[in-house]
Amino acid sequence: MKIVTIPCLQDNFAYLLICTKTQQAAVVDPSEAAPVISEIERQGVKLTTILNTHHHWDHVDGNQELEAKFPGLIIYGHASDRGRIPGQTEFLKSGDEVRFGEESGTFLHNPGHTTGAVTYVFGKTAFTGDTLFAAGCGRLFEGTPAQMHDSLNVQIGGLADDTELYFGHEYTEANLRFALSVDAGNAEIQQKLEAVSALRSAGEFTTPTTLAEERLTNPFMRCTSAEIHACVKSKEPQHNLVDEEVFRTLRELKNNY
Ligand SMILES: [Zn+2]
Repeated sequence: MKIVTIPCLQDNFAYLLICTKTQQAAVVDPSEAAPVISEIERQGVKLTTILNTHHHWDHVDGNQELEAKFPGLIIYGHASDRGRIPGQTEFLKSGDEVRFGEESGTFLHNPGHTTGAVTYVFGKTAFTGDTLFAAGCGRLFEGTPAQMHDSLNVQIGGLADDTELYFGHEYTEANLRFALSVDAGNAEIQQKLEAVSALRSAGEFTTPTTLAEERLTNPFMRCTSAEIHACVKSKEPQHNLVDEEVFRTLRELKNNY
């Protein structure tokens, strides 16, 4: 499978996934249609499928224009997003497969950012939408800290270390600055911040990351770290340091950073 990153809107990413055997393609989170159509034409592939990670407009707004241009598209989303994803045809529930061309994958249900958020998984490649960003995570619009902690640390965290994680927004540099503020002694964060700042200065993107890198640099996957515990205690002296509560405090600190 070939993956092409398509920058959209201000800082969104859509991804074109190409089955190299059939030249059929799927697009993850087309927030707008025009850049996706341009990339489809550049690649000379046939779009058959949309994979929506959740219902927010900046992930689905291109669905209807793409469906009008490529009639008969299969449009995946979580079953609980019925009525919220324009044109949705597939309503994912536990155990379902995700298919296009000769590719097949699975999905993880990741409530937290929204109740219907999913991560699509094709082998060692995963598309996390607004659940996991490099060095960060999405805001909790519809879920609890405990749900988001589970989505990140148990579900996405259960994938192999060398899984490549393609995320929904270019927030990496700001996320790493926040990460340093709560995990100040972490040399991996400092190194990654320098590398990412250089990439951004050169006009390049920071997607994908890997699960191994996130375990080292993403504070929301480091709720057991002594440095983060010390930071949390400095903000809330009575803190019980239970993982889900550490997560909640980190998310609140990030909201106000
Ligand atoms: Zn969102």
